[in-house]
Amino acid sequence: MRVVYSPVHLGHAVTMQTVLGERVPANEVAARAERIRATLLADGGFAVAEPTEHGPGPILAVHDAGILRFLEEAWPAARASGHPYDHLTPEAIMAAGMTEGMAERFRHETPAPDGRPGYWAFDTSTPILAGTFAAARAAVDTALTAVDLVLDGGETAAYGLCRPPGHHAARSMYGGFCYLNNAAIAAEEIARRTGEPVAILDVDYHHGNGTEQIFWRRADVLYVSIHAHPDRAYPYVLGWEDEVGEGLGEGYTLNLPQPAGCTNEQFLDALDLALYRISAEEGSVVVVSLGLDTYRLDPIGDFALTTDAFHEAGRRVAALGRRLVILAEGGYHVPSLGENARAWLRGAEGRPFDPRPALDPGAAWDAA
Ligand SMILES: [Zn+2]
Repeated sequence: MRVVYSPVHLGHAVTMQTVLGERVPANEVAARAERIRATLLADGGFAVAEPTEHGPGPILAVHDAGILRFLEEAWPAARASGHPYDHLTPEAIMAAGMTEGMAERFRHETPAPDGRPGYWAFDTSTPILAGTFAAARAAVDTALTAVDLVLDGGETAAYGLCRPPGHHAARSMYGGFCYLNNAAIAAEEIARRTGEPVAILDVDYHHGNGTEQIFWRRADVLYVSIHAHPDRAYPYVLGWEDEVGEGLGEGYTLNLPQPAGCTNEQFLDALDLALYRISAEEGSVVVVSLGLDTYRLDPIGDFALTTDAFHEAGRRVAALGRRLVILAEGGYHVPSLGENARAWLRGAEGRPFDPRPALDPGAAWDAA
């Protein structure tokens, strides 16, 4: 399988994040993508290539122009204003209640560099650094190059090793380690170029609130997500079963939230439901938001999946018989990330599960 990867992500050199008011070591670090790339190279069955530039057009087909402008300007403006830190994190976040009952025009985007992030962000765990905008753009190009490989390159499946991830980014909002929604931009591009409906299968541990919001009123892009129930897990606000879309989009969102401790069997049963729903719609391409934070050792998840289940999941998704644009999302247990991605992708290619690690044989990435 072809793997699209850009070293530009290394400039998004996140080391710390603010969670529950504390500055703590970051989960979404550069080593994640590096681990996956190195493991896929060690497997020998994957060919890694860099993305091509696609410009802002496909981004603006999904995102508000204001957030793209903000992401580009935020760090240089902060630096020019003497911002004292190496990262930009919101101070006052514009909660819905702040302007409740007031006209839209009273929602001001302040020019103050330290205040502006709060107009666009929904959490404090998604810092903007000097290299963030370039990395976010490269992640979009990575996704779009994977689309090119599938639509024009004759590939049955391609993997975009996107970093930063994207599925929490809504049309006008960033957060959850995500700035631009790679999967949504890819799906929109596929819909535009093929004229067919597109399905997005999101198997990240967290609900892809951004993707759901972007396609909420659309019938031509089906969003199906398996994730930790928002009664206990981030992003809390969205991901509930009763969110099915509205208007033309009613019935084109399917949320399958899972309990703590979700086993391989529970997850694969949910996957079968998701695939059954996807198979009911027309379309020849499925975008997969492939988060690996469903792994049993993930530091911010509580599912119990093992590496062989990722292989089986990839196999079942490929059995749909549709072309696959597979894009990296979350997954924070760095030692296992490469093997779990490798297992999923080998499953999707019809190659057997290989229980021997391609990298670091004997390492404790899955010792139990
Ligand atoms: Zn996640």
